[in-house]
Amino acid sequence: MTETVKSRIRCDIDFDKDGRQASYLRAPLSRNTSGWGTIEIPIISFKNGKGPTVLFTGGVHGDEYEGPIAISKLARTLDAKKIQGRVILMPAVNIPAVLNDTRLSPIDNRDINRCFPGNPRGTFSEMLAHFMDTVILPHVDVSVDLHTAGHSMESALSTNMHYVDDVKIREKTMQVAAAFGAPYNVVFWGVDEGATFTSSVERRGIVSVGTELGGWGRVNVEGVRIGERGLTNVLKQCGVMEGKPVTAQRDGAPATRHMMAKDQRGYVFAKQTATYEPCHLAGEVVKAGDLAGRLHFVEDVDRDPIELFYGASGVLWMAAGPGRVQRGDCVGVVMQDYDAKLAAT
Ligand code: CA
Repeated sequence: MTETVKSRIRCDIDFDKDGRQASYLRAPLSRNTSGWGTIEIPIISFKNGKGPTVLFTGGVHGDEYEGPIAISKLARTLDAKKIQGRVILMPAVNIPAVLNDTRLSPIDNRDINRCFPGNPRGTFSEMLAHFMDTVILPHVDVSVDLHTAGHSMESALSTNMHYVDDVKIREKTMQVAAAFGAPYNVVFWGVDEGATFTSSVERRGIVSVGTELGGWGRVNVEGVRIGERGLTNVLKQCGVMEGKPVTAQRDGAPATRHMMAKDQRGYVFAKQTATYEPCHLAGEVVKAGDLAGRLHFVEDVDRDPIELFYGASGVLWMAAGPGRVQRGDCVGVVMQDYDAKLAAT
């Protein structure tokens, strides 16, 4: 077990101390011009007496902006005296990637969200993943990790969660996600999930909610608004903050619509490297058999485009991001209304 090996990352926050503490984790990074150099990762702890601990993380991927913005605002405005319990904020977990505006770390070219549970003697991303897993998570009861679709795709504004086997944790997770109050909450069975932060959180029996609050290289105005409201909503739901979550939606719906992305036919993949012309925006209703988009070969005058079709009916959760796509890239994900019976099969 790697857990017995101590992290090389220094943390001067005393998580048992009441009040606000704002500091930086100090992660060693030896380089040509600074053998004893470090990378400073912002961390803020708020505590008042006894109560649950809620962790908000952003910037796990460096090109996703809504989470870091919403969490940084909360870090500056939250009053420790007005909470009951503890709130740990990490607005830019993967700070080298955040400052580089890339999904992957510029230090080791890794996606930290594929490095969990990490390794204290591994690469920079593996070392940071191990720190999150072994030092931060043991304090935590509820984790909300704010993501967007980065430069990969464009998402319908949503929270998301895995279909956790433990019924009690699954129901609590669904309650926290509903309290966050995004237009959609998507239960999903992911791709390559064992090495994600979410999976580390779940292995420790902690409630884990993620978000997709926009994407495709820009700040989604509504995503920031939903994100900010969602953070305080979760604190209210957990009893850390007074008041009831506000979940009313712009379209008049009173609350989050629970969805699932289980049907693998809902994933649309590019068949060739080409210029992709999508037919729909995220959040649009689509039907199985509908044209999803066309792969254009503009370098070849006489070549017809390849048409891609949806394999499932529902609402488009993830829409295409970049115009140039490679063979095998995911260019659309359809979600369906949550069905507990179907989810259990
Ligand atoms: Ca992401």
